[in-house]
Amino acid sequence: MISQDLLDILRCPLDPSKTRLRVQEDHLECERCALRFLIKDGFPVLVVEEAGLPAGCESIGQLPCQREPKTVGAANVK
Ligand SMILES: [Zn+2]
Repeated sequence: MISQDLLDILRCPLDPSKTRLRVQEDHLECERCALRFLIKDGFPVLVVEEAGLPAGCESIGQLPCQREPKTVGAANVK
C-alpha cells in the first residue's frame, strides 16, 4: 500500500509542478489527466509510457497534463 507521506510528494510526471495523484484500488490516478499508474511491489511506476490512458483518450497529446518543453532542454527544439 502507498503511504500517505509518499502520496503527498508524488506528482503526475507530465505536469510535476501541480498535479497530485490519488490511490485507486490497484493503481494511482492523476487527478487532472486521469492517467493510471500501476503499482508494482508496493511502488508506483510513474512512467508515462507504461501508464494507462483514461477512457476515450487515444494519445498522451490529448491529455490536460502536458510536459513543459523548456524543462527538457534542447531535446525537443526543432
Ligand atoms: Zn496528469
